[in-house]
Amino acid sequence: METKRMYINGSWVKATSGKSRDIINPFNQEVIATVAEGDESDAILAIDAARTAFDRGEWASMPVTDRSTLVRRIAELIERDKEVLANLETLDTGKTVIESRDDMDDIASVFRYYAEVADKDGGELIDSPIPNSISKVVHEPVGVCGQITPWNYPLLQASWKLAPALVTGNTLVMKPSEITPLTTIKIFELIDEAGVPAGVANLVLGAGSTVGAELSNNEDVDLISFTGGIETGKKIMQAASRNVKKLALELGGKNPNVVFADATFDTAVDQAMNAVFFHAGQICSAGTRLIVEDTIHHKFVDALVERVSNIKIGNGFDENTQMGPLISAEHLAKVESYVESGKSEGAKLVVGGRRPTNPEFQNGFFYLPTIFTDCTTDMDIVQEEGFGPVITVETFSTEEEAIMLANDSIYGLAGGVWTNDLAKAERCVAKMRMGTVWINDFNLYFPHAPWGGFKQSGIGRELGKLGLEEYRETKHVFHNLKPKPINWF
Ligand code: NAD
Repeated sequence: METKRMYINGSWVKATSGKSRDIINPFNQEVIATVAEGDESDAILAIDAARTAFDRGEWASMPVTDRSTLVRRIAELIERDKEVLANLETLDTGKTVIESRDDMDDIASVFRYYAEVADKDGGELIDSPIPNSISKVVHEPVGVCGQITPWNYPLLQASWKLAPALVTGNTLVMKPSEITPLTTIKIFELIDEAGVPAGVANLVLGAGSTVGAELSNNEDVDLISFTGGIETGKKIMQAASRNVKKLALELGGKNPNVVFADATFDTAVDQAMNAVFFHAGQICSAGTRLIVEDTIHHKFVDALVERVSNIKIGNGFDENTQMGPLISAEHLAKVESYVESGKSEGAKLVVGGRRPTNPEFQNGFFYLPTIFTDCTTDMDIVQEEGFGPVITVETFSTEEEAIMLANDSIYGLAGGVWTNDLAKAERCVAKMRMGTVWINDFNLYFPHAPWGGFKQSGIGRELGKLGLEEYRETKHVFHNLKPKPINWF
């Protein structure tokens, strides 16, 4: 099997150490690829290439419409190679191929969106207090960007970073998760094919502790955009302080899904299930904290258990599969210990709580959809992001209590409210401390709406116009057309 290479300064290169890493299919643990295993020295080569490409100035000063053309071309190539990319994502992550195809559509839309909006805000003229002068605000790229992505949505998360960084004239070094690099390698082939100049976009493969740490520490990097867990985010913040890098952090979530008794019952049940189980719960915005009005609690849990028990787990390539495996043996062990902690804390396990026993699933990292009732807000299982197919159910009797439970978290990424009382929905939304709140929906996002977290769920926003702002510096230019000498004495 040929070792897949990294993309540095417009060339496909091996790791300087000569090392490589096997990539595993989480469905059956077969080796699906071998990729270069870069380290600090490879990261430095890529940062140097990005620095030189930025400092040369041609990319940053290229008309934005020309950069938009390149970004639009990348979208076209993604659409052309959609099936190849979707298959690769399913092979690498275990998610269903139906989900992977949806991801690829979303990814192409992100590139198209940023190609469209980048030239719509060229700055502004502002009133000057001095006669015969011009005062204007212009946008410039930040510089060299380090971009670090997680394993759950490898190419989707990469697209949220690549498209706005490129269209605004930055140069970049991307490091995907070492577990799931395959679609990111493929998109760099498309970036190359689209004609993005050498050195502008660089790809280094390898571990967070080596490549990721170098990107966060290196003083030639001006901005870090990171998506991943809180603990890694804290380390990156500390490292980034060395040269006061700009920071964008998309961290975890422990998202409340609040269901009032007056909600449309069947839709709320279906969506409560979909809010968690479609990528085996490995979703930063999964609605893992279900908060149900006490008068419908039993009926709601019974209906949910019935639906959840029928979820078809299996091979992501089987179009009937609704839920694939978890990402790795290590992550499976984490989810198992998280469920054990729920049991020992006194939460009541009503379905799941174990691996499936079917012989055909024994080589994969499968875990059954799991529901705990009788949960209270002080339990670790309610507070910690398990990142697996697990729902905890809490109950409330008043609107105030529902809001209190929803907000009782260090996280603030997303949440949902289900009710047919629109005034009540708006009152709740106004008090819910999260970056996204859905009313009578869950987990919906699109390129032109900003995405990001309150509280410890992160800093900054991706997607939308704010996602573009992360990659732009704002400069005020004051031009005096009739300068006068200053009389000091
Ligand atoms: P992780 O924090 O373990 O790793 C994320 C990335 O950081 C990987 O590329 C990893 O190699 C790298 N990394 C690890 N240590 C590093 C270090 N010291 N310095 C620099 N980089 C380092 O997260 P994960 O397990 O890959 O992903 C799951 C997490 O991502 C969950 O917490 C999830 O909620 C979060 N996530 C958040 C969003 C969002 O939009 N807010 C989206 C997807 C995932």
